Amino acid sequence: MPKKKCPACGSTDTVKILYGEPTYEAYEESEHGKIVLGGCLISDISPTRHCKACGQDFGGKDLIPLYELTAFEFYVGGYFGTSHFVYIDGKRKNKLIRYAKTPGGLYADLKHPKNDINFHPEILLKEIPLLPDQWIAFIEELIGLEIGCWRDEYCDIGVCDGTQWELVIKLPNRYKISKSGSNDYPPYWKRFIKIMKKYINEDIG
Ligand SMILES: [Zn+2]
Repeated sequence: MPKKKCPACGSTDTVKILYGEPTYEAYEESEHGKIVLGGCLISDISPTRHCKACGQDFGGKDLIPLYELTAFEFYVGGYFGTSHFVYIDGKRKNKLIRYAKTPGGLYADLKHPKNDINFHPEILLKEIPLLPDQWIAFIEELIGLEIGCWRDEYCDIGVCDGTQWELVIKLPNRYKISKSGSNDYPPYWKRFIKIMKKYINEDIG
């Protein structure tokens, strides 16, 4: 089985986390860095792997209750090129993906779709309704990306402008996940973009 990529840094230098009272062999293996001891407490959300490159634990059941997300906001673009905006109001009964493509760094306000700003002739606006089972499928695909284990920021400081992106997922109780980047991306970025393309049917990023 190929080693699983770390969702935070992309390294494949990852090891299994072993829970429970370790045997002597397990203790030896951990001393040699072949496994990591996770302690005696285990739950069904406990991570299963540890990344030796960046220290992130991952592979457990996602802690983030994505099924209950109240808002999903995604942006990728630049000051000069094409920008893509995605917004989903998770509180809406009939789920809908709002999407806008804008040129030249123009901003689209998808939270308020009737806002004048969205009626610029060069802005492409789209609304994609999701049936309940499509919504579940979408959330399940997001869960597979282990977004909770991504670093908060991916930044290539060698590039000054270029492509910026931001992903914000709002959850109940004002809990919020916020990930962003500048010319640098998390390891599962391509998979993420593929999912977005599939639902939106536009060439994003
Ligand atoms: Zn890592």
